[in-house]
Amino acid sequence: MTLERLETDILILGAGGAGLFAALHVHKANPDLDITVVSKGLLGKCGCTRMVQGGYNVALNPGDSVVRHFMDTIEGGKWLPHQELAWTLVSTAIERVQELENEIGCFFDRNPDGTLHGKAFAGQSFDRTVHKGDLTGIEIINRLMEQVWARPIRRLEEHRAVAFIPAKDGTLAGVLMIDVRSGEFRFVAAQAVLLATGGGPTMYRYHTPSGDKSMDGLAMALRAGLPLRDMEMVQFHPTGLLAGPDTRMTGTVLEEGLRGAGGHLLNGAMHRFMGDYDDKLERATRDVVSRAIYAEMRAGRTTPHGGVYIKMGHLGPAKVAKEFKGMVDRCRDCGFDLAGGLVEVVPTAHYFMGGVICGADTSTEWPGLFVAGEDASGMHGANRLGGNGVANSTVFGGIAGDVMPRWIAANPGHRPPDEAVLEAEFGRALHPFTRRGGDLNRLRERLLDSMWDEVGVVRDRAGLERGIAALDAIEAELMMTGVAEDGRAFNLTWHDWLNLRSLTEVSRVIAFAALKRENSRGAHFRSDFPEPGDLATSCFTVARQAAAGLEISEQPVEFTHVKPGETLLQDKAAAE
Ligand SMILES: Cc1cc2nc3c(=O)[nH]c(=O)nc-3n(C[C@H](O)[C@H](O)[C@H](O)COP(=O)(O)OP(=O)(O)OC[C@H]3O[C@@H](n4cnc5c(N)ncnc54)[C@H](O)[C@@H]3O)c2cc1C
Repeated sequence: MTLERLETDILILGAGGAGLFAALHVHKANPDLDITVVSKGLLGKCGCTRMVQGGYNVALNPGDSVVRHFMDTIEGGKWLPHQELAWTLVSTAIERVQELENEIGCFFDRNPDGTLHGKAFAGQSFDRTVHKGDLTGIEIINRLMEQVWARPIRRLEEHRAVAFIPAKDGTLAGVLMIDVRSGEFRFVAAQAVLLATGGGPTMYRYHTPSGDKSMDGLAMALRAGLPLRDMEMVQFHPTGLLAGPDTRMTGTVLEEGLRGAGGHLLNGAMHRFMGDYDDKLERATRDVVSRAIYAEMRAGRTTPHGGVYIKMGHLGPAKVAKEFKGMVDRCRDCGFDLAGGLVEVVPTAHYFMGGVICGADTSTEWPGLFVAGEDASGMHGANRLGGNGVANSTVFGGIAGDVMPRWIAANPGHRPPDEAVLEAEFGRALHPFTRRGGDLNRLRERLLDSMWDEVGVVRDRAGLERGIAALDAIEAELMMTGVAEDGRAFNLTWHDWLNLRSLTEVSRVIAFAALKRENSRGAHFRSDFPEPGDLATSCFTVARQAAAGLEISEQPVEFTHVKPGETLLQDKAAAE
């Protein structure tokens, strides 16, 4: 077996908004540094930043403020966010959007007076979601990609990171990866590493994230013994397209701006049901709307494919066709008329609020390892506001890019990898070639169903325990399932196996964290504990893989800026 070795100063895992921003900021901070960006897919074509539809939350316009954006984030997150991280997110978003336009070359939609247009997004007290039509991510990622191409930044595309490799003394030496094209292993030694593989809850029957995301980064962090926070917090977007099992378009998201603009949700009996659940109707937060849809589904008041309808026609088909061109085209491809008719939708797993515990400077517990984007945790608490996701990845990616050069200046040098760990990791990655038979696709289907049915929109103890038992069985069968020995180059079955392993490992953590949280907050709803619990004594869950097994503990939230029941807004009436 060949092992190619490479040395770089700063290694960035992931080429989404977080990874690419980090690369640009590192280069700006110190152009002499050797930077390597790794992505499982092709640069600019992979990850979820490209898929961002709605837009980017930023408090820019008169009447809005950073404080207002902060309060929306904290209240939307049900008082679980790490307040320093949330503050850093909302305050730095302003300079980041200006950077995106003035340095990176993005151009967002404008008001007639030339200011940036902010669209309405659910759960927010101000229309602050900056956008480029309804396909904002393509603008952001294309411009970022061009900027990265224009600089001497090494790109390892179609490379899959599989393990952090320590030195013998336990310090971080680098990362082992698989070159997907050749199937060979490559070890990249680095002085600092950024984890930015973008989370992505693709273990649910209906999900939105890109296919290259399978929670690899969090599975690596878990195995490295790093603490993970808020792992029970999986965000379901209420309006995933539901076009039957025969199209992969099922599960893909129809953006929040549709509800923000005044779209109606109707059940199979054509009743506009959101009024039965929340005063904010369709503009309630994602968790509330997802649960309402799920309740209608459980009550059997469904559409032909088993979901509910979204209706936009009352806003004027021409207006809808103009403002939501991307969504209208997508629906037409699946036989639906979004502008004038009805489209079937279902809640779909969209975003992962959980992730690696980090500071506002993106540092983790492991010196030299930094984390940004959807792999990081704490910014959103129990619920991410639509528009705060891409703000999060670009804000903290940029911060990581500022911080890492300083860190390596203070802690210079590469550390030799522990060769025994490298050997063990080869064995782990090659495990499926030592087995024969089994049905990988059937196992994947079981995972999708178990997570959707037992660890999904509505949870309870019995269901979570059933889910954990199912996950244990899936993992055991996976370890007995083989991949045909017909070469490792572009062996996508091998990568499906590895994807499934990461997904199953992280799924167990989600289920155990969900079992630990005996209340209902934001995205996490327990029908056996439907109350939110005392906000003043709010705790977040911490999961850590220890020698004895998975440990889940709870730690109190520190209300460093504002306490439950208080607001930072001067005008309290406006806050209500
Ligand atoms: C359909 C959709 C619409 C969305 N719309 C919005 C929106 O309107 N507003 C908003 O704020 N947020 C939105 N989001 C969320 C937002 O896209 C993400 O939160 C954000 O883009 C994540 O950025 P990231 O850099 O962390 O990860 P990503 O952009 O997902 O990038 C992850 C990168 O990691 C790479 N990677 C994964 N695994 C490995 C591995 N093992 N080794 C090496 N590389 C790896 C991937 O190939 C990719 O390059 C949306 C998400 C989806 C799915």
